[in-house]
Amino acid sequence: MARIAIVTGGSRGIGAAISRRLQDMGVTVVANYAGNEDKAKAFEGETGIRTYKWDVGDFDACQAAFAQITEEVGPVDILVNNAGITRDATLMRMTYDMWDEVMRVNLGGCFNMAKAVFPGMKDRGWGRIVNIGSVNGQSGQYGQVNYAAAKSGIHGFTKALAAEGARAGITVNAVCPGYIATDMVKAIDEKVLNERIIPLIPVGRLGEPEEIARVVVFLASDDAGFITGSTISANG
Ligand code: NDP
Repeated sequence: MARIAIVTGGSRGIGAAISRRLQDMGVTVVANYAGNEDKAKAFEGETGIRTYKWDVGDFDACQAAFAQITEEVGPVDILVNNAGITRDATLMRMTYDMWDEVMRVNLGGCFNMAKAVFPGMKDRGWGRIVNIGSVNGQSGQYGQVNYAAAKSGIHGFTKALAAEGARAGITVNAVCPGYIATDMVKAIDEKVLNERIIPLIPVGRLGEPEEIARVVVFLASDDAGFITGSTISANG
């Protein structure tokens, strides 16, 4: 039987590329999204991948969505914690809500979704969890104490959960993208992007979502069974 994957934030950007690649591998994919119905429905129409709307930062919503997916699609073998947001400002200007929302979605979402899928993976003796970090969680970034802290937290989360899953056939890894050409990066001021960000990327360009998706599907495959607790950077 085909394996089943949940990709959070799987309807556009990097997540959409991951959903498509997993589907190409023969996996039955469910793509989550937060509220952009138009993009989600267009994606579903193009790919036939089912989309489900819920907020990954909401623990109860994750439990409910997981139960619904298990009922409607089947047991979940692969989880890609990809959903993420930015609420950039310097510490001086950042409100508590900006801090809290990014921590709740980017880091809390990983906990909420892992809590849902982990017991079933353990019972079946096989599972793959791939968490999407960020180069800015590795190096820090001006105006992103919230985002850098949440993404950096994903590394500790990944290593600790990898230890818990290892004997049960569950691998837990992180992929850290550099700057990738998606809506998130298009929201950055063009001058800042061209003068301050791209010149610092050694290959001299933004990455493509597919360049992250290829790493994720490898980690989600049987071939990667001896890799756990690792962080793979794909940042040019
Ligand atoms: P996009 O902004 O293009 O897409 C974000 C996706 O996440 C959308 O599908 C969105 O749903 C979903 N989402 C946002 N908030 C929630 C939520 N609370 N609950 C459920 N789904 C949610 O992002 P990218 O594709 O650029 O980024 C994907 C991941 O990669 C993120 O974790 C990001 O931090 C990380 N990353 C991105 C980099 C980049 O350069 N783009 C660099 C490094 C890391 P909807 O469409 O409904 O809004």
